[in-house]
Parts: sequence; C-alpha cells; structure tokens
Amino acid sequence: MKIAVIGTGYVGLVTGTCLAETGNSVICVDINEEKVKMMQSFKLPIYEPGLELLFLRNIEQERLTFTTNLADAIRDAEIIFLALPTPPGGDGAADLSYVLGAAKDIAKLLKDYKVIVTKSTVPVGTADKVIKIFKEHTSVEFDVVSNPEFLREGVAVDDFMKPDRVVVGTESPRAQKLMAELYGPYVRQGNPIIFMDPRSSELTKYAANSFLATKITFMNEVANLCELVGADVDAVRRGIGSDERIGKRFLFPGVGYGGSCFPKDVQALAQSAKENNYDFKILESVMDVNNTQKTLMVEKMRKFYKGDLKDKKIAIWGLAFKPETDDIREAPALYIIDELLKDGAEVRVFDPEAMDNIKRIKGDKIVYGDNQYDILADVDALMIVTEWSVFRTPDFARMSSLLKQNIIFDGRNLYDLQKMIDLGYYYNSIGRKVISN
Ligand code: NAD
Repeated sequence: MKIAVIGTGYVGLVTGTCLAETGNSVICVDINEEKVKMMQSFKLPIYEPGLELLFLRNIEQERLTFTTNLADAIRDAEIIFLALPTPPGGDGAADLSYVLGAAKDIAKLLKDYKVIVTKSTVPVGTADKVIKIFKEHTSVEFDVVSNPEFLREGVAVDDFMKPDRVVVGTESPRAQKLMAELYGPYVRQGNPIIFMDPRSSELTKYAANSFLATKITFMNEVANLCELVGADVDAVRRGIGSDERIGKRFLFPGVGYGGSCFPKDVQALAQSAKENNYDFKILESVMDVNNTQKTLMVEKMRKFYKGDLKDKKIAIWGLAFKPETDDIREAPALYIIDELLKDGAEVRVFDPEAMDNIKRIKGDKIVYGDNQYDILADVDALMIVTEWSVFRTPDFARMSSLLKQNIIFDGRNLYDLQKMIDLGYYYNSIGRKVISN
C-alpha cells in the first residue's frame, strides 16, 4: 500500500519505518527541515533500539523516503497517518493545533479518496473535529480513523511489529477493510485488531496510559509506606504481583513517572473529565503523588545532609525518563537537577544516550561526564535516577576509589541490600531499609 506519515518523531518515524518493513511504500513528512535532511542522509534523529537496521534497509530498498513537502507526500497515498505532537495546553487539555492544522492542509490538497488516520493521542471528539474540517475544505470522499499508538519508547520497534493489540476506531466499512489489510502482517500470531467507534478508541488510549500511571503511583505510595512501617517493598511487590489479577509488571517503585506521554495524558484525561462535569478524583491524586515522588530522592538527601546541600558534589546516573531512550521530556532527572542546584549543590551527570538532549536544556549549569565513572571523582554522593542496564552491576571497587564517601541514593532499587552491607556503603533506596553501615 502507499502510505504517508505526517510527523517523524518517536511515533511517526517508527510507524513509517515499520510499515515500510512489510513492503508498503512510505513517505514521511516533517516541517523540521534539519531533521528531514538528516534522514535523507541516512541518519536517525532519535535513539531507538533496533530502528536503525530497518530504517537503512527500507531507505536502501526505496520503500521509505522523507520530504518536507506535504502535497508530494499525500498525492498517491491511500492512507495518511497523523503522528503529530499533542502537548498540554495552558489548562492541561491536549493542544490540538498541530493535528487540526495538518488536517486542514491535507483537506485542501485532497484530490481522491483517502483514509486519514489519527495516531497522535487525542481527546474524545477529535475525529469529529477532523471530519468537520475536511467537510469544510473538500468535497472529495474521505474517511477519518482513530488508531491510537501503544508503542513504548525503548522497545518501540518490537511493539509496532508485534503489538498486543491494534485499536481501530471507525464506522466506515471501507476504512475498516483497508486498516485490516494494512495491519494484517503485524497480527499474524492472533493478537487482535479491535474495531470500535472513534470515541471509544480515543478514550482507550487515555484510559490505558492513565491506568498504568495509576499503577506505578500506587506502588510508589506503597513503597513510601513501607519505609514508615519497616516493610520491604520488594517483598510486597513479589507478594502482590503473583496474583494474576494484579500482574507482575509495572510494580517497581521509583522516582515517579515521566516521559512525553504519561504526564500529559493523565492531565488531559482529568481535564477532559472536568470539561464534561466529571471530577476524576483518582487522577488528581495520581498527579499530586507523582509530583512529590519526582523529588523524593532529593528530600532524602536533604535529610541526610541536615538540610545543607551547599557545595556538595552530587553525581547522577541516568537522565532519560526511562532506559533505552534518549528522551528526556518530563524526565524526573530534570526536576531533581533543578532542586539540587537550588540548594547550591554541584551536579555532575552521565547517561548512555541522553547527554546531547540534556546539554541543550541545562547548558553549563551542570558538569557532563564521558562515562559513568569519571563523574564520581571526589563527589560526595551518587544518585541513581534511570535504571540503564549498565548501572546494574558496576565496578563497586572502582566507585569506592573515586567517591569521597561510599554514599548511594538509589531511586531505582538496583542493588541487593546485603551486598551494600558487605561492601560498606551507605545506601538509601525506595521502600526498603536504609543501609547505614
Ligand atoms: P515528537 O514530538 O517526537 O514528534 C512530532 C514530530 O512532528 C516532530 O518531528 C515535529 O517536527 C513534527 N511536526 C510538527 N508539526 C508538523 C507539521 N505540521 N507537519 C509535519 N510534521 C510536523 O512526538 P511523538 O513522541 O512522536 O508523539 C506524537 C504523538 O503520538 C503524540 O500525540 C503522542 O502523545 C503520541 N504517542 C507518543 C508515544 C511515545 O512514546 N512518544 C507513544 C504513543 C503515542
């Protein structure tokens, strides 16, 4: 099939590449000229494991091309995907200007029947708004489909190629048929394509992300209580996770959820509920708890240093909002760094992939390392913020020789408590006893 993808961010580029991988002919459009030039010269603008291989293969085989010209991209396309940003607006509701703006531009260019698919995360009623825009600007036949994306950064290629499910919101049999054909190769193992009306499809995405954010937040609260009552959150996690109704995944406590999706989607769903005169109380609590959780490790540090972090040298391992991505949007590390700087601490950071992105935001306010060890020289304490694999079994002897004192604040519970006792570390993690040696 001939496909156009509008917007080549984390979702658009993965979608375009993976659709080309099954033989479709895909043109990706972006307004960012620099990005398009990069991709035209075979360079990926983002870090996403496994993407480069597919990206290069499909460019080489001429199934994947990039342009800044919308008219060229959609001319022959049967299906047009909108993978545009939907950032939070002033009141927390999703800002639809990118999606609706692109819809208007496409409508004006329409010459024959096309299916317009919204892959961006959009509030209930957006499909109706897109339809209205098309009706205002064209008399050509079209269908609008809601097809929310559930991929996770870090495993996005796998998630797209083998999705748990594909949700398609449309009432048009013609569009349904095309979508079923397009996604056929990705659901061969029997995972379902779930057809529904567009409103339910739009809400499904927000409900999924809000549920997951709630699950993480619940566990963070359990962890905080564990500390107060002398329980161990790892034991509690295993104890409840073995119940099938609860499940093992998403039960790890940490420094709060971040990223480009959970924070904005929880906020947008709460706002959407408000606009419909419904007080979605649980979401308000989730946002509240998460805000506190993001700087919990700084609070622990403040307590340890009796409120005086001035001139303390603090090293941070991990900046991306989760491992295996360079994405730092709404990453807890950003909030942690700001709090530490506010208290007069000197902050040194290392992340395997997110260094360029953090430099763009924090500039010369912090010190950047070339590897996880060089930032430890003469620092007072190490804080672990993102659970990259490379931090899981570090060279503790080398760390001890560099650190001023053996002090670790671990926001991801990477290390075994007995091991920290044996190594003689002060070790403060989440929902577990503090090892003070
Ligand atoms: P992104 O910011 O990484 O990418 C958006 C891209 O759109 C950018 O490259 C930007 O230059 C481009 N763009 C903006 N206006 C344009 C226009 N008029 N024409 C062409 N290109 C334009 O965003 P993302 O993370 O890929 O997210 C896109 C949507 O998908 C959002 O609604 C998001 O909530 C949703 N989503 C994201 C993820 C994720 O993990 N990132 C997962 C599921 C759903």
